[in-house]
Amino acid sequence: MPGKNLSREEARDRAAIIRVESYRVHLDVSAAADPGRPTFRSTTRISFDCAEPGATSFADLLAPEVVSVELNGLALDPAEVFDGARVTLPVLAAHNELTVVAECAYSRTGEGLHRFVDPADGETYLYTHYEPADARRVFANFEQPDLKAPFTFTVTAPAAWDVYANAVQERITDEGAARTWEFAPTRPISTYLTAVVAGPYHVVRDHYTRELPDGTRLEIPLAATCRRSLAPHFDADEILTVTKQGLDFFHQEFDYPYPFGKYDQCFVPEYNIGAMENPGCVTFREEFVFRSKVTEAAYESRANVILHEMAHMWFGDLVTMKWWDDLWLKESFADFMGSYAQIGAGTRYRSAWITFANRRKAWAYRQDQFPTTHPITADIRDLEDAKLNFDGITYAKGASVLKQLVAYVGRDAFFEGARAYFRKHAFGNTVLTDLLDALEETSGRDLRAWSAAWLQTSGVNTLTPELVHDAEGRITELAVRQDGTPLRPHRIAVGLYDLAEDGALLRTDRYELDVAGERTVVAAAAGRPVPALVLVNDDDLTYCKVRFDERSLETLRTGLGGLADEAGPDAPSLARALAWSAVWNLTRDGLMPTRDYLDLVLRFAGRESDVGVLQSLHQQADSALAVYADPARRAEYATALAECALRELSQAAPGSDHQLAWARFLADTAERADHLQLLRGLLDGTGRIDGLTVDQELRWSFWLALASHGRASAEELAAELERDNTAGGRRQRAQCLAALPTPEAKAAAWAAVVDSDELPNALVEAEIAGFNRPGQRELTAPYAAPYFEALETVWAERSIEIAMRIVGGFFPRYQTTPETLAATDAWLSTRPDAAPALRRLVLECRDDLARALRAQECDAQ
Ligand SMILES: [Zn+2]
Repeated sequence: MPGKNLSREEARDRAAIIRVESYRVHLDVSAAADPGRPTFRSTTRISFDCAEPGATSFADLLAPEVVSVELNGLALDPAEVFDGARVTLPVLAAHNELTVVAECAYSRTGEGLHRFVDPADGETYLYTHYEPADARRVFANFEQPDLKAPFTFTVTAPAAWDVYANAVQERITDEGAARTWEFAPTRPISTYLTAVVAGPYHVVRDHYTRELPDGTRLEIPLAATCRRSLAPHFDADEILTVTKQGLDFFHQEFDYPYPFGKYDQCFVPEYNIGAMENPGCVTFREEFVFRSKVTEAAYESRANVILHEMAHMWFGDLVTMKWWDDLWLKESFADFMGSYAQIGAGTRYRSAWITFANRRKAWAYRQDQFPTTHPITADIRDLEDAKLNFDGITYAKGASVLKQLVAYVGRDAFFEGARAYFRKHAFGNTVLTDLLDALEETSGRDLRAWSAAWLQTSGVNTLTPELVHDAEGRITELAVRQDGTPLRPHRIAVGLYDLAEDGALLRTDRYELDVAGERTVVAAAAGRPVPALVLVNDDDLTYCKVRFDERSLETLRTGLGGLADEAGPDAPSLARALAWSAVWNLTRDGLMPTRDYLDLVLRFAGRESDVGVLQSLHQQADSALAVYADPARRAEYATALAECALRELSQAAPGSDHQLAWARFLADTAERADHLQLLRGLLDGTGRIDGLTVDQELRWSFWLALASHGRASAEELAAELERDNTAGGRRQRAQCLAALPTPEAKAAAWAAVVDSDELPNALVEAEIAGFNRPGQRELTAPYAAPYFEALETVWAERSIEIAMRIVGGFFPRYQTTPETLAATDAWLSTRPDAAPALRRLVLECRDDLARALRAQECDAQ
C-alpha cells in the first residue's frame, strides 16, 4: 500500500500483535505566531507491547522532517526508517519504548494542526482535527481506531494563550514568553479522537452537576470558546443551556456517567466539517457563532449538532468501531440522537423530526440513488474509502433506519440495549454483531433478518398507494405497493386526508401496519369513502420514497399548502413536510415536470410556517431552476420566483425569520435589472423594507447577487471588505470576486485553487463557490476540458480534503448537456485505474448530471 494510505489488512495485522500502554506527547507551538515558522516540534513517547517479539511493525507519521527515532534505547537513523508517512520499527521486543522527535507542519487545510491568523486583530489560533487519520500529522502514533490508549499531552505555547485538550490541565509552568501546559492522562481513546486547541480564545465557563443513582455526585466543568473578535456575537448562554439539557437527557437514557471529566466546546475558524466529538474537547465550525441575524432553523441546526456530538461521548468515544466499516455504529446513532434528543431533552426546538424528514433524509435519498451507494455497514478497504464514507448513507440513512428500528423493537428495548452495550464494551471497540447481540437480548427479537435487509444492503424502496373504489365512491381495496431491490419489511403509518370546510387538508384516519413484499393490503380501509389524499409513510416511521395515486397528486396540486396536523393550518406540519419531500423526489426522478414543482413553490411556499422547511424549499427551487428546468424556460421561471420572493418579502411580518429567508431568496433569484436595483437600494440605504435589517451577512449576499450579474465593481467589494475586515468578510469578498462575470475573474479563481496550493481551505471553498455560478455557463464552459485533465494530478498532489472540494466543486455541473455527459464518460472509461475514491466522486457528479438531463427532458415535454 503506497504513500499515506493504510489498508484494513495492515491495520488488522498490526492490532493482532500490538497493544499500546500509553502515549506521552509534547508539542512546542511557542513560535506559532511567527508566520515564517512552517513547523512545530513534536515529541512522542509510546509504551507498547508486542505479542510476537522479533516482529517488525510501523508507526504512522506525516511530517516534513524527523529529527530522531529511538526504539528501546537504540537510536535509529531517520533516513533509513522514515519514508515520509511511516516509521519502520524493526525487531520489536515484548515491551517497547519508542520516542520520535519530529518537525511537523502547521496546516492550512483543516487537517492536522490548523493555524489561522485573525485579520481583525492579528491574533493566531490553533486547533487540531484528525478524523479519520490526521493525528499522524501532529505526532507519531498507531493511527487506527482499535489501538486505544491513555494519552498525556504537554503543550508549550505563548504565555498569553490558553490551551485546551481532552483532559483537564494538571499544571502550568511559566517559562518567560511561553508557558507549558501539562494535561492529565486521558481514559483509553483512539488517536483520531485526541485534540489540542490553543490560542488567545475567549472563554465562557459554567458547571454541570448531577446526582448519580449510586448517590455520588458527578461534576462536569463546562467551557465554551471562540475567537476573541467573535466574542461580541457569542451567545454562550444558549449553547450552554442546550449542553445541560443534553447532559441531563443522555444520563437519563444511557445510564452511564459521562466518562471524560470536563466538557469543552470550542468554536474554531476554517473548520472543514460541522463539528468533531473529541472527548472532553469538542470542536465546532465557528459559523455556528452567528454574527448576523439567522433564522430559528440555524439555531435548531446548531442545537442538533451540539447534541449529536454529545451522543458521541458514548456512541463513538466510550465505545468505538473497530475499523471504518462500522463508522455507522457511531454516526448513525449520533445523527439519530441529534434529533431525538432535541425533543426528548426538552429543548425549545420542537421541529426536529420535521427537519429530519425534510432535510436530513433528502441527503440520504440522493446518496442512496447514486451508483456508488453502499450498505450502511460498508466495505472500507482503506483510509481513502473511509474519508468518503462520511456521507448521506452513514449519517442520514443510518439514522432513518434507527428511527425505523425504534418503531420495530420499541423505544424501551432500544435504549435498554444501548445501556447494555455501553456497560459491556466501555473503552473498547465493536463490530455490528456486538450491537445486534445487545438489542436482541433486550428486545427478544431476531434482528439478523432485519439487519440483512436494512444494514447490509443498499438502495431505497418506493411505496405507492393503490386504491380501488366502487361506484358509490367507497374504497374496495387500499394497498401499498413496494418497489426497489431488495424489498424490505417496513413498519409504516398510512394517513387518509380530507378537505375541511376552510380548505385545510386534515387527517381523518391513520392505519399502522407492517409492509412486506411487493403488495400489502390495508384491510382496515375497506368500505371507507375515497379520501382526497393518501399519505403512505405518514409520521415518517420508515425510510422510503413516497409516491401518490393520481387523485392524491391532484389534491396536492391545489391543496398542498393546506395540509395540516392537529395543531392547525398555521402550525409546522410533518405531513406537509413529507409531501414537499415527496414532490421534490418526483421532480428529481423526472416524474414531475420542473414547472409543476416550481408552481407548487410559487403557490404554497408563502404559506409554509416552518422556516426550516421554507429555506429548504428555497434551496430546492434554486437547484430546480439551475439544473432541472428546461433551458428554454429558465429565464421565465427565474422572474416568477424573484417576483414571488419580492411579494412574500413585502408581506412577511417585519423583523421575522420568514422575512429574512425571503430576502435571501430574492438575492438568489434576482436577475432582472429592477430586482437587482432593489438590492442595491437596500445596500446603500435608498431603499428600505420595514423590519428588515440589512446586516453584514445579508449585505454580502446582496453583493454576491450584484457581482455575479456584473453590477458590482472590485472597488465596491474592496470598500465592503473595509467595512467588514474579518475572516468572514474576506471569504465573502473572495467569493464575490470569483463570481464576477468576466473571463479574467474565472481564470483568477481557477488559478488560485487548481494551479496553486497557497490558499487555506476556507478560501478554496469561497473561490469555488464564486467560480461555479449557474447563470454563467458560457464563462465556465472552457474549463470543462481542463477539469478532466487536472483530476488525477489534483488527487495525487493535494490533501484529500482539498482534492475532494476541487473534484466536486469544479465539476461542470451547470453545463447540463449530453456533451458534458460524454466527456465525463470518456474520462471514466479511460481511467479505470484512477484512485477508487476519485472515481467514486466523478461517478456521483456524472449521476447528478444524467439526472438533470432527464429532468430537463421531462420539463421540456
Ligand atoms: Zn458524528
